Amino acid sequence: MSEQVEKKKNTSVIKRVITGEEGVNNQEILQILEIGIIAVHIMMVILYHLMNVWQLSLYNIIVTAFYSYCFNEVKEGKVLKGYLLTFLEINVQMIFTVFIVGWDLGFYAYVIGLIPLYYYLNMFVGGEDDHTFRPLAWSLITVTVFFVTFFISRMFVPIVKLSPAQTSIGFLFNIFFAFQLIIWMSHFFVLIYRKSIVNLEDKNATLDIEASEDPLTKLYNRRTMEAALEKAMEEAKRKGAFFSLVMGDIDFFKKINDTYGHDCGDAALVAVSEILLSCVRDGDMVCRWGGEEFLLLIIGNRDAANAVAERIRQRIEDNVVEYGGNEVKFTMTLGVSTYAPGYALDTLLAQADENLYYGKEHGRNQVVSLKPQVTSTLKKQE
Ligand code: GH3
Ligand code: MG
Ligand code: MG
Repeated sequence: MSEQVEKKKNTSVIKRVITGEEGVNNQEILQILEIGIIAVHIMMVILYHLMNVWQLSLYNIIVTAFYSYCFNEVKEGKVLKGYLLTFLEINVQMIFTVFIVGWDLGFYAYVIGLIPLYYYLNMFVGGEDDHTFRPLAWSLITVTVFFVTFFISRMFVPIVKLSPAQTSIGFLFNIFFAFQLIIWMSHFFVLIYRKSIVNLEDKNATLDIEASEDPLTKLYNRRTMEAALEKAMEEAKRKGAFFSLVMGDIDFFKKINDTYGHDCGDAALVAVSEILLSCVRDGDMVCRWGGEEFLLLIIGNRDAANAVAERIRQRIEDNVVEYGGNEVKFTMTLGVSTYAPGYALDTLLAQADENLYYGKEHGRNQVVSLKPQVTSTLKKQE
């Protein structure tokens, strides 16, 4: 049963690595690569045994054990070491194979397949350091080994003479698996690259959100609102559309902090944010303008903004923040201003602020849109 579960787990890792589902990592990729290499070398042991080339058969038995060691090293997280040992072995095996059976068996194709691997390694396994020229250096060394081996192979007669049919079979075998090396490593390169782009996009999105919102209330911050206001002004000028501002400030907020503590003040700010959001429509915008001051951009005329502001005032008045066993109640004063042709943004903000200030001066817990006229002075009778 547990073996079955283990088997299932292994299958899903292979499927996940090949398809890139849920992301892949370098360690898993190299583990799969090492398993592939071990499988190919076991086939080589059989192939060379059938060809009666005992030297290469023996060599590949040793190499199979060597790659099992590499696999374990990679499993323990030594990914770079795993790659370097693999590169070294492939170069050594090319030289060895050429001396035993000659150049025409096509083992050199694996060495060509190493080139993209060097670049892959440099980009995704080499760590944070910039080693731009390292794969280039490795590639040049590989090219040198390739040509030196070729010329030496022309100077010596191979130890074992294979028949043309045997040479063709060996050639096709080696070329086929060298193609696999290039194809699959390119595939993994794309998967890892795509994953890193997705990670980057996620990070950027998080940063964008963090830069645009207030960390406590999660409302838009002042910076984001200022940009939205500029945009709304431009649109209003172009299309003649109406928009209004509602500026709200919690009454005697300092008292809440002083009486129940700063954390309770924070809880009150969060509660207010939720009320504000519940009172606006899609397209409107709510921001924390500063401390306990909030600014709302309402798509609508003065009446619409007044209605929103009054709804907010009422809900805050009715609301109770339960904190540390206390029931904390408070109110908000709100000032409204509405865009009219010829208005500048500063004028609009100043008007909302002046109306708010007027409300504070005249009893708080009210909405002021046209001072000295007070549109709402309703106070709950205890
Ligand atoms: P008023 O009715 O005139 O608006 O009186 P007020 O006490 O609300 O106004 P005041 O400007 O005197 O006090 C605002 C307080 O808000 C002072 C400041 O410490 C507090 N404050 C600002 N930001 C935060 C915050 O993020 N959390 C908490 N808990 N308090 C804050
Ligand atoms: Mg206040
Ligand atoms: Mg204030």
